[in-house]
Amino acid sequence: MDQRAREQTRGTAGAAPTAGARVHAGDGGGAGGPGERLDRAVGAVLGSAAGDALGAPYEFGPAGALSARGEEMRGGGGWDPGEATDDTQMAVLVGESLLEHGGLEPADVFARFRHWAAWEPKDIGLQTEAVLSGGDPWDLAAALHFQVNARAAGNGSLMRAATSAVWFAPAGRGATMDAARRIAALTHGDRAAWEGTAVLHELVRVALDGADPLAALPEVLDAVHPEHRARYARVLGPAWHPDLATEFNGAVWPCLGSAVWALRTTGGFAAAVRAAVDLGGDTDTVAAVTGALAGAVYGARAVPREWTEPLHVPLPGAGPGHGERGGGRVPDRVLDAGDLRALARRLAGAGAGAA
Ligand SMILES: [Mg+2]
Repeated sequence: MDQRAREQTRGTAGAAPTAGARVHAGDGGGAGGPGERLDRAVGAVLGSAAGDALGAPYEFGPAGALSARGEEMRGGGGWDPGEATDDTQMAVLVGESLLEHGGLEPADVFARFRHWAAWEPKDIGLQTEAVLSGGDPWDLAAALHFQVNARAAGNGSLMRAATSAVWFAPAGRGATMDAARRIAALTHGDRAAWEGTAVLHELVRVALDGADPLAALPEVLDAVHPEHRARYARVLGPAWHPDLATEFNGAVWPCLGSAVWALRTTGGFAAAVRAAVDLGGDTDTVAAVTGALAGAVYGARAVPREWTEPLHVPLPGAGPGHGERGGGRVPDRVLDAGDLRALARRLAGAGAGAA
């Protein structure tokens, strides 16, 4: 509770401007200067991980559970304090593949997902697990699953998009939205999931440029596939509230809508992410998406130190000696907040616009 008061103080002091107050600034410092841009890029990646870890103990729980508890990042529900979940694990896998290949190699991203899934992470989305464990080739697995199941509009591609959003932002709207669709399609055969992930990529791009992603929504919606535009326009509009959701927020539409609602109705990074967790339901993922967006708006400096200090990301199947499965379980590789900052800086520095 005292953290909340601190954030309000920060907000009124001007250190964390509201989303609505952001203006586009050109080169030469201020909101649009390169240092600020890098801070926002780190904010997107670090903020998503922090949201994931903050929300993890309350997954599938009731609304208001975080506020009712009165303390934060203390773990629970099988999660250690500050432990991030599959959302961030998969985001790291995507980011490291982009860096290693200097761009998107979908087969490699899929192979990394599949290797990770085989090492039995604590949590994995049903849709994602079904596609990764089915044995089908990378370019067919999600489509085949969708053919059989007909529903694949979970939020599992949205939740892992912070790293790719940072990488592809310099390439512009069309390129970042297309890349989002391609990465989403690795595990989700439903175009609804592709379009939602494309919207998030574009909102992060706008925020990294120092502009207001909420003001950009009409233009972003114009770039959404026509068959999906009306539904996204509804959940992203100012009249929408998470109570109006027609599906559980594990679906892509209310998850993205809730993240935008949280950004719109609060005045700082921590308040937005707390509001997301307090919605209940798929708390880690709604907060991971909110954290990516709010982190891109407010920057890494707005992510509370009390959240980043315990933050860590265990990566199953990536520890020392991971090639020797016959010898039993290998230790996880574990990233901390410093590792996430470094990853984000590399993504921002070597991203799609650098070539
Ligand atoms: Mg998760």
